[in-house]
Amino acid sequence: MKVSRRAVLKMSGFGFAAITLLPRVAFAGRNSVLSMRTGVQPNGKTRLVIETSARPVYDISYPQNQLMISLSNTAAGAVSPKLSGDTLVKNLTQTQNGDKLNIVADLRRSVVPLDKSQVMILSPNGDSEYRLVMDFVAGTSGAGATESAAATTKTPAKKYVVVIDAGHGGKDPGCIGKGGTKEKAVVLSVAKKLKKELDSIGFKTYLTRSDDTFLKLADRAEIAEKRHADLFLSLHANANPSRSTRGYSVYTLSEKASDEEAQKLADTENAVDKIGVSGFAEFSKEIRVALSALQQRAVAELSEEYANDCARAMDNASIDRLPGPSIRHAPFAVLRSTVPGALIELGHLSNASEEKLLKSDAHQNKLVRAIVKSVKNYNFDV
Ligand SMILES: [Zn+2]
Repeated sequence: MKVSRRAVLKMSGFGFAAITLLPRVAFAGRNSVLSMRTGVQPNGKTRLVIETSARPVYDISYPQNQLMISLSNTAAGAVSPKLSGDTLVKNLTQTQNGDKLNIVADLRRSVVPLDKSQVMILSPNGDSEYRLVMDFVAGTSGAGATESAAATTKTPAKKYVVVIDAGHGGKDPGCIGKGGTKEKAVVLSVAKKLKKELDSIGFKTYLTRSDDTFLKLADRAEIAEKRHADLFLSLHANANPSRSTRGYSVYTLSEKASDEEAQKLADTENAVDKIGVSGFAEFSKEIRVALSALQQRAVAELSEEYANDCARAMDNASIDRLPGPSIRHAPFAVLRSTVPGALIELGHLSNASEEKLLKSDAHQNKLVRAIVKSVKNYNFDV
């Protein structure tokens, strides 16, 4: 099976923007491999991740007992692969073939050729560069298809669990618009609407708060853990000293902030807990010990996939975006858990016209429709 270059660009979700990113490479027109690793996903699939300095352009082929990823215009990197012992991949080698780099995986068992939805290109975040991410299951093309067809007819569809977190609440109003609109009220209203919509199309949803009560950040993250959520969405609205600043933005968790503004925002959103108890530090430590580095990366990757879907859905709905990158990263306390998720700043209450929009039913419904779309597009099965 071959994945075309066009399909790669389409899959990446950035269309022709990818072309403009190429000049970022250190050597003119050259990509290089920075790391390679395998791991087991929670559902038992083998995940292969190849990190590169520039957006990868690739082909995948399936020679006997092997899997080959050819990266165009790429140089081998002096990296030793990090291999998890219990995956379908025995070893990984790099072979330079002209300006192509072939990464060959020797397999313990043959794998089902990948479907589009199982190949992802993630953009750099604070902790890593571009990543080509692929998930494999054992089997052959035909057998795999029959097996999964049989599985879908036998097993009733799993109800995916989404925990919706309306930020702030109670003694903590969040930010307040010039017209007096409180963040805590706007996000609660959107959260309730979102719950109703997602429930109506078959998701199982929980709200972290359903009224005007104060909740610590750790408690919010813990609700997602206890409900075994597949996705965690924390809803907020923003404020900026510049009253002309407007637009939504989407954030995922990263220890390093993607930019100064993202760090400032995380500081503001995290500050809530400094009023409360010290519980957070210990909770986060527990979670961190419980999670292996590979699992942490898997959660980060899934979160980024969702964030991409979310930004795309908001853009498609013509909801104004805060100028700059579509997804940002920062150390948000509320996102520190084993559940993939994102923090969505729905817009700016500090902007007069956006404040009006944010409190209107029509605009709240528009936001909800876009988020519902992003949840439907998210690949829960990975
Ligand atoms: Zn907030």
